[in-house]
Amino acid sequence: MRADLILYNANVLTMNRRRPRAELVAVKGDKIVWVGRDTDLELFTGKRLDCKGRAIIPGFNDAHIHLMSYASNLLSIDCSPVSVSSIKDIQTKIIQQAALTPRGTWIKCTGYDEFHLAEHRHPNRHDLDEVAPHHPVKLTHRSLHACVLNSLGLSQAGITVETPDPPGGLIDRELENGEPSGVLYGMNSYINENVIPPLSENELERGVKLVNQSLLSSGVTSVQDASVRNHFEQWRAFARLKERGDLVPRVCMMFGLHSLAEFKERGMFYGYGDAELRLGAVKFALDEVSGKLNPSQEELNEGALQAHRAGFQVAIHAVEEGTVEAAAIALEYCLSRLPKLDHRHRVEHCSVCPPRLLRRLKSVKALVVTQPAFIYYSGDRYLSEVPDTQFPWLYRTKSFRKNGLKPAASSDCPVAPCNPVVGIYAAVTRKAESGQLILPDEAVSVEEALRMYTLAGTYASFEERSKGSIEVGKLADLVVLGADPTEVAPEQIKEICVEKTIVGGKVVWER
Ligand SMILES: [Zn+2]
Repeated sequence: MRADLILYNANVLTMNRRRPRAELVAVKGDKIVWVGRDTDLELFTGKRLDCKGRAIIPGFNDAHIHLMSYASNLLSIDCSPVSVSSIKDIQTKIIQQAALTPRGTWIKCTGYDEFHLAEHRHPNRHDLDEVAPHHPVKLTHRSLHACVLNSLGLSQAGITVETPDPPGGLIDRELENGEPSGVLYGMNSYINENVIPPLSENELERGVKLVNQSLLSSGVTSVQDASVRNHFEQWRAFARLKERGDLVPRVCMMFGLHSLAEFKERGMFYGYGDAELRLGAVKFALDEVSGKLNPSQEELNEGALQAHRAGFQVAIHAVEEGTVEAAAIALEYCLSRLPKLDHRHRVEHCSVCPPRLLRRLKSVKALVVTQPAFIYYSGDRYLSEVPDTQFPWLYRTKSFRKNGLKPAASSDCPVAPCNPVVGIYAAVTRKAESGQLILPDEAVSVEEALRMYTLAGTYASFEERSKGSIEVGKLADLVVLGADPTEVAPEQIKEICVEKTIVGGKVVWER
């Protein structure tokens, strides 16, 4: 038989329960045509690749990511805990950037986390004014749920002492005079869309190339873009990036309810597109920043019902207990009005999920898309900040599994780095960066963690028939790892490197 690529002498972890291990994978065109033993090698002619005993797994599927925010992050000044450890450090970085930037041009910094800053507080406009009085500055929190503007930035945003808190947002004020402190909660996307000039064509291209490299070098071959702001123009932008080959991982694009009518008018339906770019769920952002639900329960119910009736999967962002409950109520509302068996409606994050909500989500057959790497990157913060009443219900990976919520894993990048091995490590060990344990009873096995980052991700976007495991007929999206995660000591998992990334049968990245 003729094949285009035969990977042999490999330790293949297929994610196919009927045949979990193999030694050889043959690819023709963009599909897998054979999964077998090394002795099958003689059956094939074609290019051979000796894997020297290395592990091969299905390409990672990141079930919830924000590609455009990540692109703009990669073009901004990195103020994440790996690069800065104090407000002083942030100031130094801004001084350097200000020297290179024409006056009046925005300086954008990302990734700060006040928990990891020596001063243990959010920077404020005065900290930023001190080092950049002539440039508008935006410093974005790692969570994307807060940002800080300097005085020039606030004035360009038109935010003054008189500005009321917008719906879902909170303008932090100075105690003495009520002046904005510069810290804004829940207003990050508003500022990005309405205040900061959009990235130029050139910047965007540069940013997306960096995103592409970052994903492929991490073995990520499919992503699901969860940005609520996505609309038809973004779909076209993704299509262009795909055509030019600037963005190699396969993209499933969720979008906001505001664009549902437009997609429908254009004859686009759930799953529209192809294996490269596909239309996904209607995404709902739900928060309680201002102390009450935004949107309201009624608005969420009606919006979700609209998407559900239109045949779309619903994906609800819900972090806090109150929002997880509202998500459960909204799904119950949809399904009581229009029952549907295989809806796969999703709760994104589901960070705090007490037993009563676990039961409700189970009874509506919701799926959960979780972020195991948060345990690693934010676990120490959770230990010090999450109240005792909520702590036992944090990121309950094992309970999600046991209750049939079929958890899929994701990075929520740029909120956390996109490298899945750190998430797998955290799902298996439940260890924060400092080594402290976060609910070790919620740990899952290495096999289960791998499944969450591969097959479960494709299930969460109705694509499990075409990818997510190494089986004949599926897309040849594969990753060669430096070591088998099921064989190394748990501590080593997060150090495992990706040696090769293969998308549609083509080696698109190698070390
Ligand atoms: Zn997100």
